[in-house]
Amino acid sequence: MGKSFDIGLERLTGAGAWPGSETERRIEAGRFDTDAGRETFYLETFGCQMNEHDSEKVAGVLLARGYKQVETPEAAKVILYNTCSIREKAAQKVFSRLGELRPSEGEPSAAKSREVDARLNARKVVNAGGGKIIGVLGCVAQQEGEEIFERAPWVSLVCGSASYRKLPQLIAELEAGNRRVTGLDTDTDETFETEITRRDNPFRAYLTIIEGCDKACSYCVVPFTRGPERSRASASILQEVRQLADMGYTEIQLLGQTVNSYADSSARKMRFSDLLVATAEISGIRRVRFTTSHPRDFGKDIVEAIEAYPAICEHVHLPVQSGSAAVLRAMARTYTRDEYLEKVAWMKSAKRAISITTDIIVGFPGESDADFQETLSLMDSVQYDGAFCFKYSPRPNTPSLAMNDIISEDEKSRRLAILLEHQREIQRSRNEKLVGQVAEVLVDGKSKRANQWSGHTSSNRVMNFSSHAENILGDYVQVKVTGATPNSLIGEAVTGPVASP
Ligand code: SAM
Ligand code: SF4
Repeated sequence: MGKSFDIGLERLTGAGAWPGSETERRIEAGRFDTDAGRETFYLETFGCQMNEHDSEKVAGVLLARGYKQVETPEAAKVILYNTCSIREKAAQKVFSRLGELRPSEGEPSAAKSREVDARLNARKVVNAGGGKIIGVLGCVAQQEGEEIFERAPWVSLVCGSASYRKLPQLIAELEAGNRRVTGLDTDTDETFETEITRRDNPFRAYLTIIEGCDKACSYCVVPFTRGPERSRASASILQEVRQLADMGYTEIQLLGQTVNSYADSSARKMRFSDLLVATAEISGIRRVRFTTSHPRDFGKDIVEAIEAYPAICEHVHLPVQSGSAAVLRAMARTYTRDEYLEKVAWMKSAKRAISITTDIIVGFPGESDADFQETLSLMDSVQYDGAFCFKYSPRPNTPSLAMNDIISEDEKSRRLAILLEHQREIQRSRNEKLVGQVAEVLVDGKSKRANQWSGHTSSNRVMNFSSHAENILGDYVQVKVTGATPNSLIGEAVTGPVASP
């Protein structure tokens, strides 16, 4: 580290950087003295937590080059969209954003013809209306590649998520006047680590430990868009966690599409569970989270680590996708319903109450009503604390595109509504059982209403609670649960000593 950086003061302040706090100290420490002469960038992110964190790294690359982040595309010289193509709707959103940036007639737009293109190539700086540089990053970039230039000729940078290592070089090429640059390799064996990462969340630091995916679920674009699995060396991860702890972070979230498939790329060969323990043992770290776990690689050693180390959060996100053995086979998920339930049983019999959440897809090709009922019955057995539920979306390059027995959109919507209602009732009942208990909350929000705060429990539940304390943002507070809704708990801060459970 060591370079100055700008971590988006306005946004962080809004998110709760309070005067005199460690967060404010971090912001002040990283602020540029002057904005004069600095180029500006706007970065919008679509998709999952991995994408959000990639954007933090992309922003870090630009900030380290002296750019300043702005809040609107209008105010920016460089406009970047970090895209998601996991479902069709997400991919469409990006093209609609690009459409909004189409230069009007007469403005210097890109590539009306190859000849114009060639002339532009020889010229310094660039492109769409007002000389802006427009870039598409992430999964859509990887998937659509240079076609994006055809569809939106005012774009000048296309860089897929597997090629982010090249991003600083690509940006340097654009600055040098190159007209169009691409990073579309998927054969990289390196991970995307930056000298500096701009962190948006002042309370929880995200850290990618494994990139890409070697599984081949028949519906999923990730192996195409993010490339093969590459794990970081454990020593480098732990070194970064130490730095984060020194910066004042107490909560770390380890990230990967299949985080528990982590395979230490160094001679140390740490198992994923050992890495969790080593992270939890770092001085100053009070919470370690991880997502997303793949059921096939989910071993008992992970449950044992959670049992033994209170700093490892009592929450596992373990996507099941379907409760039907036949659909799981067609999805090529590599585990059966029974194997999945066995892993759930390990967690249910653990010494700590581990909260379990999941992802579910409805309407996969060939999913019969009986298959769907199997998913509902699995939800009854597991009693999930949360579930992200999706309608199956056919994606390019994926094997499920060629499958027969397509489920209609209406039927997918019908099943999704049933699933959501079913899960809502499970969550309501599970949360109501917590009334009367005391939970530790990391306070990460303050309501406009007086004395009202919010935060997350170790189980990752949202707690809205009352406290008369002056300023507790960033603190760990004991809160007694006084009420429950399907999506959150209501409580009041405990002022006296807390009885041990
Ligand atoms: N690697 C994680 C796993 O194996 O569970 C999932 C990562 S993926 C980015 C997040 C979720 O998107 C998946 O768990 C799945 O439920 C959903 N998803 C992926 N492809 C999909 C598709 N074609 N249609 C609908 N949902 C999809
Ligand atoms: Fe996609 Fe399957 Fe890899 Fe998850 S494990 S990212 S669903 S291919």
